[in-house]
Amino acid sequence: MANTERVLIHPAVDNGIRKGNPDFSGGVLSCHCASNPVKLRVGAQTAHNHVCGCTKCWKPDGAIFSQVAVVSRDAVEVLENGDKLDIVNAQAPIQRYRCRDCGVHMYGRIENRDHPFYGLDFVHTELSAEEGWSAPEFAAFVSSVIESGVDPSRMDGIRGRLRELGLHPYDTLSPPLMDAIATHVAKQQATPAPAGARQSAPPPPQQEPASTPPVRESESMLTRLLNKLFGGGRQ
Ligand SMILES: [Zn+2]
Ligand SMILES: [Zn+2]
Repeated sequence: MANTERVLIHPAVDNGIRKGNPDFSGGVLSCHCASNPVKLRVGAQTAHNHVCGCTKCWKPDGAIFSQVAVVSRDAVEVLENGDKLDIVNAQAPIQRYRCRDCGVHMYGRIENRDHPFYGLDFVHTELSAEEGWSAPEFAAFVSSVIESGVDPSRMDGIRGRLRELGLHPYDTLSPPLMDAIATHVAKQQATPAPAGARQSAPPPPQQEPASTPPVRESESMLTRLLNKLFGGGRQ
């Protein structure tokens, strides 16, 4: 067994995980600025809260994981000082809105309607003083912490500590979220080509099964899909 003493994951979980309140209905998130903080109303309980090891999610100082949850984009509203928000990378699948002064990410939004998680915003509920937000349930993209500088020799201790906390360590996302992605992709592949695509040709007698794109090089389909959807753990 790896030694899990003194392994720090994230301040919100290092001293044990606080339970969420099923009746909780949201609160206000503030950035770290001492004056004129950006304030964001999240008017609903969050879901799929987790700690994330990818290199894109915002982490508080010293933490090797972020803590991030999703909520319907309809429930998210900028209340104050929205003029301080910048998009970290407008080309990324998730557009992360960051306070230009303190660097804290306030929310991540997906504008591509074909993305499996379109309609959901990503938020860090530790930025709220209210209690009752949904508790973290698992750890995602665990191996990616190596890309942010964690020594590979520490991984046994980190995975051991995550298991102790009840946060199952996954190197992608949790099975329900991976299933949601796969279901979305399967539905997209089942959609017939738009009529305009074969305007002048007679319709084929039978619908051919959707062809699978060839796997290129050694990179797995899954890795390429995750990179496309989330920008992956890779810079
Ligand atoms: Zn700020
Ligand atoms: Zn992440």
